[in-house]
Amino acid sequence: MRIYTEDIVQHDGKEIELKGWVDTRRDHGKLIFIDLRDAKGIAQVVFPPHDKELVEQAGHLRPEWVVCVRGTVQKRPANMENKNVSNGAYEISASGIEILSESKTPPFSVTSDGREIGEDGRMRYRYLDLRRSRMQKNIRARSNVNAVMRNFLNSKNFVEIETPILGKSTPEGARDYLVPSRLQTGLWYALPQAPQQYKQLLMASGMERYYQIARCFRDEDTRGDRQPEFTQLDLEMSFVEREDVMAINEELLIHIVKTLYPEKKIQEIPFPRMTYREAMERYGNDRPDLRKEKDDPHSLAFSWIVDFPFFEKNNEGGWTFTHNPFSAPKSQYMDDLLKQKNIGEILTSQYDIVLNGWEIGGGSIRNHRPEALRAVLSIMGFSEEKIENHFGHMLQAFEYGTPPHGGIAWGLDRLLMILENEPNIREVIAFPKTGDGRDLLMNAPSEVSKEQLEELRIEVKKSTKKHP
Ligand code: ASP
Repeated sequence: MRIYTEDIVQHDGKEIELKGWVDTRRDHGKLIFIDLRDAKGIAQVVFPPHDKELVEQAGHLRPEWVVCVRGTVQKRPANMENKNVSNGAYEISASGIEILSESKTPPFSVTSDGREIGEDGRMRYRYLDLRRSRMQKNIRARSNVNAVMRNFLNSKNFVEIETPILGKSTPEGARDYLVPSRLQTGLWYALPQAPQQYKQLLMASGMERYYQIARCFRDEDTRGDRQPEFTQLDLEMSFVEREDVMAINEELLIHIVKTLYPEKKIQEIPFPRMTYREAMERYGNDRPDLRKEKDDPHSLAFSWIVDFPFFEKNNEGGWTFTHNPFSAPKSQYMDDLLKQKNIGEILTSQYDIVLNGWEIGGGSIRNHRPEALRAVLSIMGFSEEKIENHFGHMLQAFEYGTPPHGGIAWGLDRLLMILENEPNIREVIAFPKTGDGRDLLMNAPSEVSKEQLEELRIEVKKSTKKHP
């Protein structure tokens, strides 16, 4: 029976079978040891010198070969215990070995933490890079965080709902990724920048509490730590005010830390709050790092930033929204919004959640009355026609009894990065892209065939960029 390496401790004296990768091989004269690695960790296997044939076979093993080892679990001699691993008091005395798959010499070590290896190489061979224990831990941590979030939200009556990836291009801030339609020649889908409109429509549908671990796509120019696609915990709630949304998110963040990161210390609960103006005056930015112990990897300083200006001037001298065009103003500014006056003074109901100097999420209470959303779009200089064309479905939905609602979205990659003490989000994404948006493993984006383009009725102007 195959067991995991970490479970050998429960099989002292018993015959077992391990399957996994040869992590390292050490030859001590007539004795050969291998460390065998599987999803749960590492176990030491010793090949006893009396079994000449087996020792000979073991002598051929190389790092990263996949093997099945049979043997008996035994206690290691007292002075040979490995205190660094939970099963370090035991080893397997091998009685048989089967090679399931050989491996070429990997292009880099997978037993180090990988920080010494160039990132391009790591991405090109990501499936090997993910074998290292640091990456195994990060990707598994991500799964655990997802599971804790799901359990928490399900227990609070949230419904997990998937929204379309093929959607409509609307002017929501960033540039859209476009997908040509074959069946509707000349028309285009857009990949979602966020599920914002669908989640609000779900509130119009009476779902009351929605969440999704959602992929978002924004075609922005390279900026340090951005990825063309990233993941949000996206949620929306009906019949709530700002305090309700903030409270449940604060509770969930604390719950994640206490459940999965008990070694970490949240600096202040309840999370401190600051207005945008205070943050700018005191720290010069709206995502201050409030940690008292910046050298301590276990310090988590959450804070909420509120009372942002709704609008700011764009480069052309018109108004644009600072965060989200669907937000409601703070209630005392509703009159001004509807009358479209004192525009620069209007504060939005937006709240951002900040952790250790990073914005890890943001949301707002929404305009659920059509005239308020219409006023926002009109302040932004959108013509009646543009409003109907891009947002007509929202305005119409709001005419059929939409409850007051609000929500938030977290940048999950960033949150994971901070919790895992990693320097960038690529370390917590299984298959990230380079800064210029390339997938070096699959080699995407790539050219497609003439036939594919013809089917889509697309002609490519001669590319000026030389593809690597
Ligand atoms: N959808 C918004 C975003 O992606 C967040 C929100 O207000 O829910 O930034």
